[in-house]
Amino acid sequence: MNKKAELIENNDKTYIANTYKRFDIVIEKGEGANLIDFDGKSYVDFSSGIGTLSFGVKDSEWINAVTQQANLIQHTSNLYYNEPQTKLAKLLCEKTGMKKVFFSNSGAEANECAIKTARKYSFDKYGEGRNEIICLENSFHGRTIATLSATGQDVFHQYFMPFVGGFKFAKANDNSSIDALVNEKTCAIMLETIQGEAGVNNLDASFIKHVQEVCDKNDLVFIVDEVQTGNGRTGYLYSYMEYGVHPDVVTTAKGIAGGLPMGAILFSEKTEKTLGYGEHGSTFGGNPICASAAYSIVSRIDDKLLAHVKEMGNIIVERLSKAKHVKKLTGKGLMVGIQFDDTVTNLDICKKAMDNGVICLTAKKNLRLLPPLSITKEELNLGLDRLIKTLEEA
Ligand SMILES: *Cc1c(COP(=O)(O)O)cnc(C)c1O
Repeated sequence: MNKKAELIENNDKTYIANTYKRFDIVIEKGEGANLIDFDGKSYVDFSSGIGTLSFGVKDSEWINAVTQQANLIQHTSNLYYNEPQTKLAKLLCEKTGMKKVFFSNSGAEANECAIKTARKYSFDKYGEGRNEIICLENSFHGRTIATLSATGQDVFHQYFMPFVGGFKFAKANDNSSIDALVNEKTCAIMLETIQGEAGVNNLDASFIKHVQEVCDKNDLVFIVDEVQTGNGRTGYLYSYMEYGVHPDVVTTAKGIAGGLPMGAILFSEKTEKTLGYGEHGSTFGGNPICASAAYSIVSRIDDKLLAHVKEMGNIIVERLSKAKHVKKLTGKGLMVGIQFDDTVTNLDICKKAMDNGVICLTAKKNLRLLPPLSITKEELNLGLDRLIKTLEEA
């Protein structure tokens, strides 16, 4: 490793809080799905900054959107009207049929807003006490105290007590587990259609439809967390659109602004008026540069791109299903989970793949691939060659 990269690593260890166990690489730059570290080594990017670099690196439309807005004004606050924000909100509503949007800076904040919306909706209509939210075991909804409380994994429920009450956890893909938790105190059900951080676990279509029915029958707020699955990732603009359901609140973040911090909460007709003046807010939410960046991304998520995402996803499945050590593939589109046999570990494969020039992610015991949506067939096949070679050597 060269001197500059070494200095960066040392300064990181000295001055940055120890919350991240980083891999031993320092990325300097990139282009498309090709990343280059400070030693000049190239990697195929199957991580896209954890699903954020929707159109990869050095995407000229994204760069134009960001620099044009930076040349006008970088921030105004939410005290005044803001053109990029309104353009983006209109686009999101037109593409989804949702009625209104609130902008946040992250996925966790988007889910905080969804939780507040669910409780306020119920308070307005039914008064105090109807405030329980049913989430799923193995879910992941964020790192704030409320979203950690909504996360169905015990490892996240340590040290920071007291957590926020009112969250119940049902078993994924188990209709009766949902039914058993619904009572007069329930106000919402919240789920990810594919549980990303849990290892890329798909929910069944029949389960998602059952949740919709339970929400309709009991006037519950149906929240779909599309922070990871949204913005084209699964081959649909938002993953719920595949199932013919109509959530009341959709949260998203990660890929929406091509690598800038941005979250969005979409409200249906049922919830569009729930949050009123002074009941929610954000200094940076909907920042003009982030909103311009997001417009440049969302406006390009069309049928052609979604077909490309599905096609690239199929190539991954076709090639990896025959690869050594691979037991099972999960996910959809360009969100792929890889389960291995017991003779290898995901972390070891991830590190060796990096040595071989392809950057992957892990999720629980699995490997996870989230390449840029715009990845070319050539880039994809090169990355798969390197990953398959890694598996053969392991
Ligand atoms: C990443 C993620 C979050 C948290 O998003 P942040 O931007 O890190 O706050 C929430 N929900 C899901 C499903 C995620 O994948």
